[in-house]
Amino acid sequence: MSTDRKRVVILGGGFAGVYTAQYLERQLGRSGDFEVALVSRENYFVFQPMLPEVISGTIGLTDTVSPLRRLLPRTEIHVRDVESIDLERKAVMTAPGFRPHSHAIAFDHLVIALGNVTDFRGLRGVPEHALPFKNLADALVLRSRVIRALEEAAIETDDPELRRQLLTFVIAGGGFSGVEVAAELNDFVRRVARNYRGIDPQEIRVVLVHSQGRILPEVSEKLALFAQRILRRRGVELRLDARLEAATGEEAVLAGGERIPTRTLVSTVPSSPHPLVEMLGLPKTKNGRLIVDGHLRVEGRDDVWALGDCAQIPTPDGGVAPPTAQHAIREARTAAHNIVATVRGGSLRTFEFGGLGKMGSLGHRSAVAEIFGFNVSGFLAWWMWRTIYLMKLPGWGRRLKVATSWTLDLLLPPDLVELKLSGSIGVAQEHFEPGQEIFHQGDLGDRMYIILSGGAEVLQNENGRERRLAEIGPGEYFGEMALLQQTTRGATVRCTDAMNALSLPKREFGVLAAHVPELRKSLDEVIERRTRANRAGRLVADNSK
Ligand SMILES: Cc1cc2nc3c(=O)[nH]c(=O)nc-3n(C[C@H](O)[C@H](O)[C@H](O)COP(=O)(O)OP(=O)(O)OC[C@H]3O[C@@H](n4cnc5c(N)ncnc54)[C@H](O)[C@@H]3O)c2cc1C
Repeated sequence: MSTDRKRVVILGGGFAGVYTAQYLERQLGRSGDFEVALVSRENYFVFQPMLPEVISGTIGLTDTVSPLRRLLPRTEIHVRDVESIDLERKAVMTAPGFRPHSHAIAFDHLVIALGNVTDFRGLRGVPEHALPFKNLADALVLRSRVIRALEEAAIETDDPELRRQLLTFVIAGGGFSGVEVAAELNDFVRRVARNYRGIDPQEIRVVLVHSQGRILPEVSEKLALFAQRILRRRGVELRLDARLEAATGEEAVLAGGERIPTRTLVSTVPSSPHPLVEMLGLPKTKNGRLIVDGHLRVEGRDDVWALGDCAQIPTPDGGVAPPTAQHAIREARTAAHNIVATVRGGSLRTFEFGGLGKMGSLGHRSAVAEIFGFNVSGFLAWWMWRTIYLMKLPGWGRRLKVATSWTLDLLLPPDLVELKLSGSIGVAQEHFEPGQEIFHQGDLGDRMYIILSGGAEVLQNENGRERRLAEIGPGEYFGEMALLQQTTRGATVRCTDAMNALSLPKREFGVLAAHVPELRKSLDEVIERRTRANRAGRLVADNSK
């Protein structure tokens, strides 16, 4: 292996990240003068344009995703959360996995393709009660919530208000994704209602809330009005010039005071800059997107590239590239070319892509499309939508699966299975056996523990010598210091008697510590006491040398 082999590290496994890695793999050839690593939270790539179809089960639950390892056979894949980026040291830090070891990935070239995040902050009750719609988990959760609401409504005979809440589905955001979610959800609940003897389809309401005078601001007025007519005809209520202001578990509150009773609120707005990108000391626009030049290089750096939804990319006509998948794919090609040109020496390309058109599905064999300047709507647009997106899906296997699901959907009723999605719940009870290490000195702090039964010892290693700092037992807690002080673990905790403990993840623990003053006070006292005891122990150890 050549010692000056360059390492390209891509952050994000969405359209921008995955296509950049694919183009880089193609250019890699046999030369081996660079290697590619990609870090992503999930081990799969999500084809977001088809995600709304997961709600209705028109396509299989996992048909919209492809495993990264199959798409990128020559790329080193890290399925981890990126926690921080150190531009000085040229390293990316990822979150702990099964064992809480810190993990640093060094780079020569960094590609930031982290997309954006759904952020409901500032809207009262919306973070707690609205469902986002961005990835596969969101689609599965929404589908399960809708089926649960129907199941409950079918047997709720005593409380008419609760029935109204259960049978009303509200979607906030009338852009492409909001409209597609509303259309799919509406088709689904109305099709399956006949399976519920206790539900009269007339009771079902699907409400789409949009802040402007017409939905689909991305397309011409004519097409948007066509889409509005179709949706209304199918029973979707439109609340135009209306804004979601707040939410509770029982209603959506619009600015102006209208309250819509609902137990299912989906919000596809607003998207916010990625918090990691926000933290970086790199030039950004007012709305938090990284500013890049026409070569997709972040201003002021020749080793950092950014593309996709997290970047503001200039186009030759003086505008900026919109945040869409079709643009992200073309940006990836330009970025990959330019990274290779920088490594091997060659001329850089400028990003030039005006977009091929826009398409949105309205469900039930109807869609709107603006392609090469032509407006198309209805069945023809729907057929084009399906054909084009089918061909864009990565891999023939997946295309075959989706085509089969679509065909079966024409013949069979929709699937009604409710998946109870639990599992990786934050707060967990854990059991440890004697001798087992709960965490190791130097590990990243990811959880704190409350001992329910059994015990453990706290050990500290200094200059190769191990010191026993304390023995802890039922009712005591540990692991809080690294979380509160944002440091690595200062000691090792090893189980001495078979131990059951309740463990809290960092985030939940942070919320408790921030909002329960008594808890915070007692935590501070414990930290103070432990720090003093550590210092005293160290003095004794030093004096006995
Ligand atoms: C429901 C929906 C429908 C859409 N329909 C269309 C359409 O029909 N046509 C179209 O052109 N566009 C469509 N879009 C927009 C399009 O999907 C986006 O523009 C595109 O996905 C942007 O790609 P990206 O790679 O920049 O971001 P993303 O695809 O969002 O990818 C970001 C990646 O970064 C990863 N990530 C984020 N934070 C971390 C972290 N801390 N650690 C590790 N990994 C992290 C994520 O897991 C993800 O893999 C749609 C979007 C949605 C949500």
